[in-house]
Amino acid sequence: MTYYLAPDACLKWLETRSLYRVTSDELYELDEQSFRFLGDCASSEGCSSDETAFVDYCLQEGILTTRRTLPDRPPVIPAPKPSLRYLELQITDRCNLRCRHCYLGDGAPHELSVDQIKNVLSEFEEMQGLRVLISGGEPLLHSRFQAINDLLPRFMIRKVLFSNGLLISDKLLADLNVHEIQISIDGLERAHDALRGKGSYQKSMNAIALCRERGMDVSVSTMVHAKNLDEFTHMDRMLREMGIRDWTVDVPCVSGRLKDNRDLIVRPEEGGEYLRYGFGSGLHDAGEGFGCGLHLMSVLADGRIAKCTFYAEAPVGKIEDGLRRCWEKIVPVRLDDLMCDCSYLEICRGGCRYRAELLGSSRGKDLYRCFRYDIMNREPGRA
Ligand code: SF4
Ligand code: SF4
Repeated sequence: MTYYLAPDACLKWLETRSLYRVTSDELYELDEQSFRFLGDCASSEGCSSDETAFVDYCLQEGILTTRRTLPDRPPVIPAPKPSLRYLELQITDRCNLRCRHCYLGDGAPHELSVDQIKNVLSEFEEMQGLRVLISGGEPLLHSRFQAINDLLPRFMIRKVLFSNGLLISDKLLADLNVHEIQISIDGLERAHDALRGKGSYQKSMNAIALCRERGMDVSVSTMVHAKNLDEFTHMDRMLREMGIRDWTVDVPCVSGRLKDNRDLIVRPEEGGEYLRYGFGSGLHDAGEGFGCGLHLMSVLADGRIAKCTFYAEAPVGKIEDGLRRCWEKIVPVRLDDLMCDCSYLEICRGGCRYRAELLGSSRGKDLYRCFRYDIMNREPGRA
């Protein structure tokens, strides 16, 4: 019997040799022998094996198939260390909303050219990247969104569109080449509309329902703010019932328009505990001993590249410098270097360094996380 690698599977040479499924976002670590064998299965000749237990497991998981399928697969070469696994690609900063907490503020709109996007995605794929978050502003407002959408199937990476949901329609979904849509829901109707404008909650919720009806993976992102604090238990139940895949909950950093809307800001002792909510995986996986988005980098709509969008004012380069060169300039955050001294360090990983910096020191504690883990009460004198 001849076996072939499933069309949504590709080998990625990360810190360990791995196999990634773009449709399910599953990452399997492989030993050298399995990696070589599956590499053969990715070729046009396919592969055969006497290792029936391993082959049976791969067939059961849908990693191997007996049907000959030959998608274009990227080269499998060693990724830099640490590996760049997640890329936020802000294709435009145009938006159809003026959210009161938006970190982008009110500057002149920018957008990346289709060529820039193509080059970034090629480099990211070659660096063994896993997942791209196509964001904005509102990414669907990019003047050449259709051309960008047409490019996406060329790349063996998981594509997630991060939208406010207002422009999502049946017609758009019929041709949309992404694996997942992430939609911002910042509370129930009253609290969400207080940030995003009257009527926006219903439109975003309708968009989620439509995506789910079409069988798409949907994730939700929620900011903790002064008007939604009593709504998280209700939201948790509601989002689970809707079949939401990942729920990211975070506290917005005081930047952009939030600076002018201080009534929305919550202090660590008010907002931290809500960071207990959320489920699924975000973009902040980190290797042992490291924190702060170890595998994440952001490309901004004006072509600058930064550790994440919060560090827009401290870019490490621009698209023309090359993704790899920019990535090599980002210094990983070692947990040993932080002033954190609590027993939650390995799970909290020091929280968000940008937030810690705003609160006093880039090596200091992210107090929102300290309140999330309740260490102020449990470990008196240590926080
Ligand atoms: S500064 Fe905060 S948002 Fe940025 S990568 Fe670090 S943890 Fe993530
Ligand atoms: S809970 Fe606070 S002190 Fe503990 S690791 Fe997180 S940020 Fe650091």
